Amino acid sequence: MSKILYISSEAFPFIKTGGLGDVAGSLPRALQKNKQDVRLLLPAYQEVLDKVKKQNCVAETFHYGQHIRILETFLPGTRVKTWLVDSPAVFDRPGNPYLDPEGEPWHDNAFRFALFAQCAVDIALNRCGLSWQPDVAHCNDWQSALVPALLDTFPQRPATVFTIHNLAYQGMFNSQTFFDLGLPAELWGMHGVEFHQHFSFIKGGLVFADRINTVSPNYAKEIQQPEFGYGLDGLLRHRKDRLSGIINGIDTDVWNPGTDKLLAKNYNRRTLADKSKNKTYLQKQLKLPAKAKTPLIGLVSRLVEQKGFDSILAAMETLLSLPLQIAILGSGEKVYETALLDWAKKYPQKLSVTIGYDETLSHQIEAGSDIYLMPSTFEPCGLNQLYSLRYGTLPVARNVGGLADTVIDTNEKSMANKTANGFIIDNDTPAALIAAVRRSLKFYKNISVWKQLQHNAMSPDRSWQASARQYIDLYEQAIADNPHPI
Ligand code: ADP
Repeated sequence: MSKILYISSEAFPFIKTGGLGDVAGSLPRALQKNKQDVRLLLPAYQEVLDKVKKQNCVAETFHYGQHIRILETFLPGTRVKTWLVDSPAVFDRPGNPYLDPEGEPWHDNAFRFALFAQCAVDIALNRCGLSWQPDVAHCNDWQSALVPALLDTFPQRPATVFTIHNLAYQGMFNSQTFFDLGLPAELWGMHGVEFHQHFSFIKGGLVFADRINTVSPNYAKEIQQPEFGYGLDGLLRHRKDRLSGIINGIDTDVWNPGTDKLLAKNYNRRTLADKSKNKTYLQKQLKLPAKAKTPLIGLVSRLVEQKGFDSILAAMETLLSLPLQIAILGSGEKVYETALLDWAKKYPQKLSVTIGYDETLSHQIEAGSDIYLMPSTFEPCGLNQLYSLRYGTLPVARNVGGLADTVIDTNEKSMANKTANGFIIDNDTPAALIAAVRRSLKFYKNISVWKQLQHNAMSPDRSWQASARQYIDLYEQAIADNPHPI
């Protein structure tokens, strides 16, 4: 059994903006089920504090002129002990954890997540009175990437693992910020956290962690190439013997069509007829004509370039000329929000667009749609295609990152060996997207073939169990690689 400090800037159901929230909300529990001693460390944002009944302060520390309390609670619905970094001036704000009300990064994000990292280091070194010494500090994305760097400046430290959930977000700030934060001078430089005269948080994880992983094997390969590497591909190639990919699991307590309380009607692969009740419910709710035979395409996403919205918008006119309906839920960049709403206004009988973040509707779209569209330009793992597969909603997805690892294109061979579970868009163009959608519609017409594809999609075990075991192996490797064990 290892002691794992799991450090994350979001965790469902406390707070979630994307895939990291889902992973941090479910992997710690899966590790615990596999007999690991796990503690989750999270900033005490306002939204998190609102969900904590009693504020139980178990430790205190002091950084950057701030008196910081460590509050102890449990991740709701679990026995995962969770420590919250409570620094009101820094985290007690309404809304998005990373963005201000205008959708811009909070002006003091470097300070906020440097403070978070300093507290994580205190706990990782067992020096704030919690009487618990982790064997591994597991850090996630740029918000906790300074932790491996800071820990490396100590003569003895726990092993460090750094998981890349999305390399596109790097936590880049000007070089002065590094010095303003009073970080150890030895961390500056190209072999440290300097990146082309800027201060890069993510390099703290990429350079200093004992082990690095990404959330799919394919993305682990892709980021070593210039096309997906954002200038960090050289560093990642340099560290390739320490870099691996572990596909995300899904939390089957939350995402299970058989028990999902947010659905109009539960179903499983043997009661697929009940899935259609969710379709009718969704159509009515979204004010689309309740036509059982018209294929309904769903999409739940952050509205950002990565998710393929340029191709979707360019293809929209053609898509809406096909015999289908589309249901989109998302929020993000204003240009996409406006353009999608304009299309919906023009085609209210075929396209429904809901702007916002809505956990309930996201489940209902997964269950009520026939097809799920995911034309991402890159996708580290992708969770929505996994939810879709579990819900018998066949993905039409790009062949990148984790999508390529999980969506098996429908062709003669994959149909014969019963692995076919979706439709691959083979390049980043509107034409390829349209071609893949057309192909899915052709198969949709054949009821028995479609049913078989749904069976193929719904049958595999996509829970965290297998991936949790891989993380446990990764922790053991990190412990073995740690040059400065405690
Ligand atoms: P990413 O982390 O890049 O956003 P993922 O597919 O890994 O993409 O995870 C996205 C998660 O966020 C999924 O659980 C998805 O359902 C959820 N999500 C994204 N946008 C919304 C939204 N507008 N409303 C509800 N859930 C959303």
